[in-house]
Amino acid sequence: MQIRLAGIVNDSIVDGTGIRLTVFVQGCEHNCKGCHNPQTHDLNGGYLADTDDILEKALKNPLLEGLTFSGGEPFLQPYPLCDLAKKAHKAGYNIFCYTGFIYEDLLNDSEKRNLLENVDFLVDGPFIESQKSLMLNFRGSENQRIIDVKKSLETGETVVIDMDNY
Ligand code: SF4
Repeated sequence: MQIRLAGIVNDSIVDGTGIRLTVFVQGCEHNCKGCHNPQTHDLNGGYLADTDDILEKALKNPLLEGLTFSGGEPFLQPYPLCDLAKKAHKAGYNIFCYTGFIYEDLLNDSEKRNLLENVDFLVDGPFIESQKSLMLNFRGSENQRIIDVKKSLETGETVVIDMDNY
């Protein structure tokens, strides 16, 4: 399935636990002040890739723990990322996903929820420059939460986990 990307890093240690293949999707409309990836905002920028080729790239790295969807805004491309997440889970990987949206809002949008249901850990919320901290693991600003999506969907409560001492 085709997906519009800004780039791929296949040995990241800063976008979730362990060594990860990070997929930077192209396109974002949140316009967070101080965003580190402004080149990923143009919805028509970047390049088209195939989700099967991305998985193939992941499988070539025997040390990978999982895939991370970053951007850009992953939830603007829920269909291809859902396809990739399902195939990645079958291959034994976990999925971290970044979003500028709020978890509870994603629950109320059927297309976005479909992707959410195939994500293990979600880092939610916009980047807020005044709450920026270099002490946070896997997050840019204090307002962002790392959510255990599976537990949250099971319990109906938003389960936030602390990975700052990971
Ligand atoms: S959501 Fe991420 S990519 Fe989009 S503007 Fe905010 S920090 Fe940048």
